[in-house]
Amino acid sequence: MKIGIIGTGYVGLPTGVGFAELGHDVICIDNNAAKIETLRSGKATIFEDGLDEMFLNNVRNGRLKFTTSMREGVQEADVVIIAVGTPPHPITKEADMRYIHEAAEELAQYLQGYTVVATKSTVPVGTGDDIEKIIRNRRPQADFDVVSLPEFLREGFALHDFFSPDRIVIGADNEKAGAVLRDLYKPFEGKTQILYVRRRSSETIKYASNAFLAMKIHYINEMADFCEKAGADIYEVAKGMGLDRRIGDRFLNPGPGYGGSCFPKDTNAMAYMARQYGVYLSLIETVIKGNDARKARMANRILETVKNIPDAKIAIWGLAFKNGTDDCRESPAMQIVSELLAHGAKLRVYDFKAMSNAAKILGAKVEYATSMTDAVEGADVLAILTEWPEFGKADLTEIKELMNTPNIVDLRNLLSPQEARNLGFCYQCIGQ
Ligand code: NAD
Repeated sequence: MKIGIIGTGYVGLPTGVGFAELGHDVICIDNNAAKIETLRSGKATIFEDGLDEMFLNNVRNGRLKFTTSMREGVQEADVVIIAVGTPPHPITKEADMRYIHEAAEELAQYLQGYTVVATKSTVPVGTGDDIEKIIRNRRPQADFDVVSLPEFLREGFALHDFFSPDRIVIGADNEKAGAVLRDLYKPFEGKTQILYVRRRSSETIKYASNAFLAMKIHYINEMADFCEKAGADIYEVAKGMGLDRRIGDRFLNPGPGYGGSCFPKDTNAMAYMARQYGVYLSLIETVIKGNDARKARMANRILETVKNIPDAKIAIWGLAFKNGTDDCRESPAMQIVSELLAHGAKLRVYDFKAMSNAAKILGAKVEYATSMTDAVEGADVLAILTEWPEFGKADLTEIKELMNTPNIVDLRNLLSPQEARNLGFCYQCIGQ
């Protein structure tokens, strides 16, 4: 099949690479010319495990191409996948549909023959109808259908999740479009649940799933707060809970609060959308407020440890919103860093992959370290904010020698509390 993918970001690029690997002819379109130039030069523009090699193989065998030209990517495509961003509106927090609408306007001009337009971006319910209207207005005679094809990949596991998804959801209101997507996803038949639903149900499934996962994280974080006061251990509690298959053992890791490019924006968009329908989603509204407040409380924990140290220096390990990615969007680490800066703190930061993305946001407000050890030199507290496993393997004896004052606030519970305390650190973690 010929596939055009509009938007070559954290979703579009792995999706393009994945479909090319399955043997399709893929053209990835992006209006960011610098991005396309980098991709054409054979360099991936995001960090994802296993991406570089598969990307290069498919570029070399000619199945994966990149362009800034909508015409080139759309005119011969059997399926056009929309994977542009739907960021939160700065005030209302509803999904900003500008990029979706622009993409629909543009792609409409170049449709030729029957084409399925599939929306992979996370979009409010009813967006399929809007895209259909936009295209129909521009090209009344065009032969097309619009389907919802929500994406569930996890950054850091994008290719794994492309090839082995828990499920594929296809929201097609018409059999002809459904048949094209059935063909596209043939290699997954028998291995993965493929669910065919109404387009509006499909759009809802994505938000309902992300909001549920965000709620699960917030729930275990609140249980961690409880355990700290009650003398229980959150890991023992999570294990005991997770053995119940109705609860399940995943997403029961306590931390500084959920973040990333999806959960915060999707919970807010879902709550906004529901309010527009006159439905008050009390759980989601509460989770959003609780999760925002949690980041400020976590920053306070760090500040408390150094409140009596004049001119204290804070070392930060981790800026990405989770390990395995360079993505800093809505990262809890970045929000905690901002909170610390707002209190006038002096920070020296380090991350394995997210330094350049973080620098775009933080500029000269922090010092940038070149390694984990470089970050802690002369520090009065070390705050661990992203769960890169390497942080958990640090040589604590060396870290203690380098630090000015041996304080650690481990918001990812990566270190052994016993080892840290035996070495003389004042060590705090979550839920224990
Ligand atoms: P991103 O910002 O990384 O990528 C979007 C890309 O679209 C950018 O490169 C941008 O230049 C391009 N773009 C915007 N308008 C365009 C246009 N008119 N023509 C061509 N290119 C255009 O975003 P992302 O993280 O890949 O997310 C894309 C969508 O997928 C969002 O709706 C998001 O909610 C959803 N999603 C993301 C994830 C994730 O883990 N990142 C997971 C599931 C779903």
